[in-house]
Amino acid sequence: MASLFEKDIQFLKGVGSKRKLLFEKLKVPTIGALLRLYPRNYEDWSNCTSISDAPLNVPCCIKATVVSPVNERIIRRGLTLYKVRVCDDKSSLNITFFNNRFVKSQLKIGEDFLFHGIVKKKSNLYEMASPTFMKFSCCLPMRPIYPQTHGLNSRQIESAMKQALLLLPEKIKDPLPAEILKKYNLCDLRFAIENIHFPNDQDSLNKARKRLTFEELLLLQIGLSRMKLNNRKQNKFKVEADFSEEFWSLLPFSPTKAQRRTVKECINDMISDSSMQRLIQGDVGSGKTAVAAALCYTAIKSGMQAAIMAPTEILARQHFNFFRKIFEPIGIKVEILTGSTTKAKKRRIKDYLEVNAINLIIGTHALLSDDVYFSKLGLVITDEQHRFGVAQRAKLAAKGRKPHVAVMSATPIPRTLAMIIYGDLDISILDEMPPGRQNVDTFFVAGDKRIRAYNFIKKHLDEGRQAYIVCPLVDENESDLLSAEQYAKKIETEFFKDYKVGLLHGKMSARDKKYIMDAFSNHDIDMLVSTTVIEVGVDVPNAVIMLIENAERFGLSQLHQLRGRVGRGEHKSYCILISDNKNQDTVRRLGIVCQTNDGLKIADEDLKMRGPGDFMGARQHGLPDLHIAGLIKDINILNDSKNAALDILKEDSSLSLEKHSVLKAEMKRLFGEIESSISC
Ligand code: ADP
Ligand code: MG
Repeated sequence: MASLFEKDIQFLKGVGSKRKLLFEKLKVPTIGALLRLYPRNYEDWSNCTSISDAPLNVPCCIKATVVSPVNERIIRRGLTLYKVRVCDDKSSLNITFFNNRFVKSQLKIGEDFLFHGIVKKKSNLYEMASPTFMKFSCCLPMRPIYPQTHGLNSRQIESAMKQALLLLPEKIKDPLPAEILKKYNLCDLRFAIENIHFPNDQDSLNKARKRLTFEELLLLQIGLSRMKLNNRKQNKFKVEADFSEEFWSLLPFSPTKAQRRTVKECINDMISDSSMQRLIQGDVGSGKTAVAAALCYTAIKSGMQAAIMAPTEILARQHFNFFRKIFEPIGIKVEILTGSTTKAKKRRIKDYLEVNAINLIIGTHALLSDDVYFSKLGLVITDEQHRFGVAQRAKLAAKGRKPHVAVMSATPIPRTLAMIIYGDLDISILDEMPPGRQNVDTFFVAGDKRIRAYNFIKKHLDEGRQAYIVCPLVDENESDLLSAEQYAKKIETEFFKDYKVGLLHGKMSARDKKYIMDAFSNHDIDMLVSTTVIEVGVDVPNAVIMLIENAERFGLSQLHQLRGRVGRGEHKSYCILISDNKNQDTVRRLGIVCQTNDGLKIADEDLKMRGPGDFMGARQHGLPDLHIAGLIKDINILNDSKNAALDILKEDSSLSLEKHSVLKAEMKRLFGEIESSISC
C-alpha cells in the first residue's frame, strides 16, 4: 500500500487539477488515501420489494419496469420536473425527478430498474421523488455512499474508487502480522478493502469493517503506548513540595474530596522521577478549574511558569478573570494571550514570558504560535481536551523541556474506554460535585408545546433570570430547519418583543462573540440564541433555562454538556429538550437525559446504545484520523485490539522483528513526526 500513498490522485482518469482540489478537501490527496476513504453508509439494493409491499416513508429499494416515456415539465425558471411511471406485477408508481434531464435518456420504456428512495402514498397512488436508480442487469447488492463535498458527489467518488481498486498490487503488504489475523479471526487486507467499498453482501461487509476497525484501533493504541513510554522519560521539573493545602486556603470554598485527591495524584506525579502526563476527567461543574489552579500554584511556587490553553476565547477570558482574582493579590503575575490581543500587547507579553516575568499565561491557540517562548515552562494544562488534538497539546508542551502536562475534559467517557482512547495518559476522575448543587430538571416535549415553553421562559425572565436557546447547525439544503440566525429573528419579533435577545454563532468574529458573551454575563441580554459554540465551559450563573431545539440531533453527552450551562447558581434550573422525532430509539435516548444528571451514567448509556464510535469520534486526537473506528458499534473490537497491541509491544516494543516490519512502516506513515521522534 505504501507506494499508493505516494501516488497522486490525479493519476486516475477523470481526475484533473480541478477535481483534485475537491478530493483534497476530503483529505484525499493520493490513491492510497482514496482507498481509505470509507463509505459512510450503503444503499442496500439486495433487498428489493414490490411496490405494494414497500414500507412507506423510509428509504427502500423497488424493482420495477418503466412503462411511460419521461415527461418533462418546466414549472418555472430553474425548476423542471421529469415524471415517469413504473410498474411491477401488481401496482404502479409515479416517480418525479427535479432538474435532472439525464433521466430522459436513461429510463427507457420496457427496461427493468431498481429504484432506491422513499415511497409515499397519496390518495391511493404510490409516488417517489428523486430516487437513485440502477439498471437491474448491472446492479451491485450494496452501493457505497461516500462523504461528498460540493462539486464532488458519491457517484464520482465511486467511479474513482473502482479505478483505484484495480491498482492494488497483487500482494498487499499487511501491517497486521499473520498470527494476529489468525488469533482474532480477521480477514486479509485485500478482502477488507474490496469489501468495504463494494461489499458482496452484509456478511462480507461486516468482516471487512471488523478488520479495518481493528487495524485502526491497534495502530492507534500502539502509537499511544509508544508515546507514553517516550513522554515518561525524566522529570525535569520536580516540584519541591506539595503546596496544595496552602492554595486551598486562598479559595472562598473548601475543596471536595475528589478535588483534593486529584490534586494529590497530580502532585505525586510532579514530585516523582517522571513527568506528569495526566487526564483529569470531571463532569461539567465538578470544579476542574480549581484543580488547575492548585496545580499552577504548586508549579509557580516551585519557580516554574505555567500555561493554560482553552479552546475558545470566551473560555480563556473567563479563566483569566478567575485566576487573576486569586493570584494577583499574592503577587503571581497572570496574563492572557488570544487571537484578539493587540499587537503591541502581544509583543510585551512575549517579552515578559521569555524572562519569566509572567508566571501564568492563559490563552487560546495563539499560545502555539512559533514566536512564543518561555524561560521556564514547567506545567501545561489544556482545558476541554476534546477540542484539541494530541498534536496541539504536544506543540505547547514542546515550548518547554518536557513540562508536566494535564489535560482536562468534561466529556464523560466510561473509564475502560478512556483508558484506551487516552492510552498515552494517566487518568484522574473528579467523581463528586461541590456541595449544594441542584439537579437541573429536564423535560422532553414535542414542538407543539413550544409556546408553552416560551411562556415558561418568559416567567423566569420576568423574575430577573436569563435563558439559552440552542439550535442545531443547519446545512444549506435543510430548508425545513431554521438557522440560529433566523430563529433569533423570529422569536424576537414574534414572542420576545419586550426582551433583549442576543445571537451567538460560530461564524461571528472573536470580537463580536466576546461582545455578546460579555453582554450576556452582565445581563444586558436576557436570552441568548446560540449554536453549540456555548457548549464548553461558559459560566453565567444567572441563566436558569436551557432550551434545546431538535434535540434528537445531539449526542447524549453533548446534551448533557449543554445542560451544564445552567444550574450553576443558587436558582432552580431547567432544561427543555424539544423534538418531534418519534423514533423509539430517540425517545429512549432523550428520556435518559431527563432521568439523570450524572454524566458518567449518561456516557455509559450512550456507550451501550450506540457503541464506542461516538466517543472515538469525539476525540479529535490529532493522531491519524480515525476513518472507520468512529463508526464502530462493537466494544469487543476495542478490547481485542487493546489486547493485541499489548501482546505485540510485550514481545517487541521497538517493532524491530521482521514480522512487524510492515506494521512499523505503517506507524511511521500514520504517526509521522511523533513516531520518528520515539527512540525506543
Ligand atoms: P468545570 O469542572 O465544569 O470546569 P468549574 O471549575 O467551572 O467546573 O466549577 C464550576 C463552579 O463550581 C464554579 O463556579 C466554581 O467556582 C465552583 N466550585 C468549584 N469547586 C468548588 C467547591 N469545592 N465548592 C464550592 N464550589 C466550587
Ligand atoms: Mg471548565
